[in-house]
Amino acid sequence: MIERERLEMDVVFVGAGPANLAAALHLKNLIKEHDELIAAGRKKGNPLGGLEIGVIEKGAAIGAHILSGAVVDPIALRELMPDFLEQGCPVDTVVTEDGFWYLTDKRTIVSPVTPPPLKNHGKYIASLSKICEWLGEKCEEAGINIFPEFPGAEMLYDENERVIGVRTGDKGIDKDGKPKANFEPGVDLLAKITVLGEGSRGSLAKQLTQRLGLNTDSEPQVFSLGVKELWEVPAGNFAEGRVVHTLGFPSDTDTYGGGWIYGMKNNVISIGYVTGLDYKDPLIDPHAEYQKFKTHPQIAKILQGGKMLKYGAKTINAGGWYTMPKLYADGVLIIGDSGSFLNGQRIKGIHTAMKSGMLAAETIVAAFDHNDFTSKTLRHFEEKVNHSWIYDELYAVRNFHASFQSGRWSALVNSGLQFITGGYAWGFMPKEHHIAGHERMEKLEAYNYKGDAVEQRYPDLKFDKQLTFDKITDVYHAAVAHVEDQPSHLHILDTEICATRCAEEYGNPCQRFCPAAVYEMEENAKTGRREIKVNFSNCVHCKTCDISDPYQIINWVTPEGGGGPNYKGM
Ligand code: SF4
Repeated sequence: MIERERLEMDVVFVGAGPANLAAALHLKNLIKEHDELIAAGRKKGNPLGGLEIGVIEKGAAIGAHILSGAVVDPIALRELMPDFLEQGCPVDTVVTEDGFWYLTDKRTIVSPVTPPPLKNHGKYIASLSKICEWLGEKCEEAGINIFPEFPGAEMLYDENERVIGVRTGDKGIDKDGKPKANFEPGVDLLAKITVLGEGSRGSLAKQLTQRLGLNTDSEPQVFSLGVKELWEVPAGNFAEGRVVHTLGFPSDTDTYGGGWIYGMKNNVISIGYVTGLDYKDPLIDPHAEYQKFKTHPQIAKILQGGKMLKYGAKTINAGGWYTMPKLYADGVLIIGDSGSFLNGQRIKGIHTAMKSGMLAAETIVAAFDHNDFTSKTLRHFEEKVNHSWIYDELYAVRNFHASFQSGRWSALVNSGLQFITGGYAWGFMPKEHHIAGHERMEKLEAYNYKGDAVEQRYPDLKFDKQLTFDKITDVYHAAVAHVEDQPSHLHILDTEICATRCAEEYGNPCQRFCPAAVYEMEENAKTGRREIKVNFSNCVHCKTCDISDPYQIINWVTPEGGGGPNYKGM
């Protein structure tokens, strides 16, 4: 039995992303206002200035695991801190030009008008990693405890299934599960309220949702995977402040997908491609889709003479309103991407994540004011969401992603109609509405594929290491590091399925959907059959494998704190 330190706090935020950092900072501001009103005799109640607030983060530093496009709608940032620019918020560039391109194999059709949801004029192109680093500094200045290298490994419950905090991961366990000389057991962080803002497919949010059945009344979540590189390109190739979104090449019409190019300062561009993880073709490889995207003549011209600087990959929750789980239970709130707050039509979730955090902060102040941390008080979080601009924005696009599950053409017609009707959809919708991606994947035989050779889907794709890169080269540019002598954080519940059923039926799609070459099928010299090999140290923490495995036998758990990619500046 491991002896663990118990640390008593009042509020613990799990994950230092935009939702939780905005929540923690807003909470501090609200507490200050609350206490000032009490001191002035204008409010009754107890002062809350002594509350202990902590933010734990699995990355080595704040921002290290944060990845986004990103064009930021500053609406929430402005509500949080009206003078965010004066306070040095590192938004890189103001958007001055919008574009929307439809790409065929060789041609580019430039839309004469940018679809209104993709109009970004006046918004900010930014590195979300840098914004989080800055928000983290603001939190520390406000007296919030920030603990990097502390992964949330397990939820803690009392005998009534009430959440009472979170256990952080152990350090110094060797690959066989034995303590090493530097062993440090994880800490039990006890809190009256725990807030999960772990991002897309949060591992604690997954545990909690399953255990308490928080998604029984919502539709299955659907996800997309964004694969991104930062490039430095010759001056004149792509203007600073220019934002272009694309549709078409290289996705097939059954697959949700699209590209982006954002012009930042110093001739750096953010370029990436999103592939819906509800694709049907088992040989689809989202990393290969992105590499192929760059070979389009129009895109290759932008990158010509340039240099790739950094790489990253991350999933996003694409389902929106109908896939939102219940956002509260006794002692716990779920916010940000973990709570499905992303607007898939605008491809934006930073502003909604931050706002969800700020509404959670208001709920937390009320809970401490009433000294009640049960669902009775925390349910007000959902009411606050329903009465905020988050509802107006997300309810109007509630059918957006589901309409793409019927294919691109019907989706374009349907999403156009939804734009006019405020989200009402008819005619082209699939009967089941949102369908979990792993259930939509079809078997190799449906495509007449012979085995798992990816060349069958991508016959012309080559990695020339100038324009296109293989996964290993890209992973190098994500600066991934994990302590090698630790147990794999990728738990495959039944490796026999990998060697047999999955190999025959789907050709082991983990080899393709993982954007970091973590999964390989390797011949076992003794048995002569191909078996799964897991190169866990390559993992960029995108969570795709936890989402997309057709048998749902991959469980992503937190590795030792500090391990993973380093997206600083991405
Ligand atoms: Fe993403 Fe899973 Fe691959 Fe890690 S192992 S990079 S979480 S798909």
